[in-house]
Amino acid sequence: MTAIPFLDLKAPHAELRDALDGAYRRVMDSGWYLLGREVETFEQEFATYCGVRHCIGVGNGLDALHLILRAMDIGAGDEVIVPSNTYIATWLAVSYAGACPVPVEPDETTFNIDPGRLEAAITSRTKAILAVHLYGQPADMDSINTVAQKHGLQVIEDAAQAHGARYKGQRTGSLGDAAGFSFYPGKNLGAIGDGGAVTTNDDGIADRLRVLRNYGSKVKYCNEVKGYNSRLDELQAAFLRVKLTCLDKWNSRRTAIAALYLEALADTGLSLPHVPDWIDPVWHLFVVRVEDRKQLTDNFDKQEIGWLIHYPLPPHLQDAYRDLGIPANAFPIARQLAQDNISLPMGPHLTHAQATIVAKVCRDTFPVLRGL
Ligand SMILES: *Cc1c(COP(=O)(O)O)cnc(C)c1O
Repeated sequence: MTAIPFLDLKAPHAELRDALDGAYRRVMDSGWYLLGREVETFEQEFATYCGVRHCIGVGNGLDALHLILRAMDIGAGDEVIVPSNTYIATWLAVSYAGACPVPVEPDETTFNIDPGRLEAAITSRTKAILAVHLYGQPADMDSINTVAQKHGLQVIEDAAQAHGARYKGQRTGSLGDAAGFSFYPGKNLGAIGDGGAVTTNDDGIADRLRVLRNYGSKVKYCNEVKGYNSRLDELQAAFLRVKLTCLDKWNSRRTAIAALYLEALADTGLSLPHVPDWIDPVWHLFVVRVEDRKQLTDNFDKQEIGWLIHYPLPPHLQDAYRDLGIPANAFPIARQLAQDNISLPMGPHLTHAQATIVAKVCRDTFPVLRGL
């Protein structure tokens, strides 16, 4: 029996060892470790990759989203619409800015924010919609942008899970007014440590971001605003430049694993992710819904197959957000998803043989409906 990891974080670095070692030596020998040539070059390369004019490297994904809101002058007294089912960082970015997160339920088949529910959540205080491309599937951006335009709202993408995904042929990061990316090691494009970036076509937002990330200063010791210290460092940028060259290849390996799962599990009791045909997801996670989750996790544990739950408790039910006073029975879709979702092993270095074993355990756990 061979253990199957949920995600192998070492394998990508083994594949690129020489290039990463070279990047490390180049930075170490340069004598310049923050806001230098590597970050500038990575910013250009990632902007080109996403199909936008600007990329601004920052310290992490949460800062990327927070600083976008600051750059848009969104803060105390303002409301920002967020998905009810997302990683808590999406909400925290809004809270950091001093604004109030206003949750909207997802579409149950795509897991992404349901555009049909947006208008009911808009008030005179609403300033922006912060949409998440959850699990690597782009949200329905045309519908979101249409509602936003009608009400004069900004649109921000939380693209932390969707590097390289496309919506109607266009890359995430280019689908709203600004987008926040995370380069947390487990993301599709991951650093060897923390990192993040903002992408935008808006010259003003880009300009303000560059000032905000570096103590509010464009010229050393000249501080225009009360800024932050949130910089992508040279070493991580150098590593990211190496790994960016493999992003498409690694995303297509994820797509092949997803295709294997979708095919092998089509006739089981598992509820599989729905992919609308106008999007090309990048399968950051492969999340299924299952009635008896415990039965499946027990069998995965027995076979030493890695699994995770994304996420076990939605933000509005976390102690951290008790102050919002949201009733426990609000947002039933987010609550239900937290009860019945499970993420199968997924990553560019998961082999087809391993994925086949994972699928077999799923099939053995749940009766195949064919022929009944
Ligand atoms: C990872 C993640 C973030 C935060 O990124 P960090 O780099 O960890 O700060 C934000 N939103 C979503 C949806 C994420 O998955």
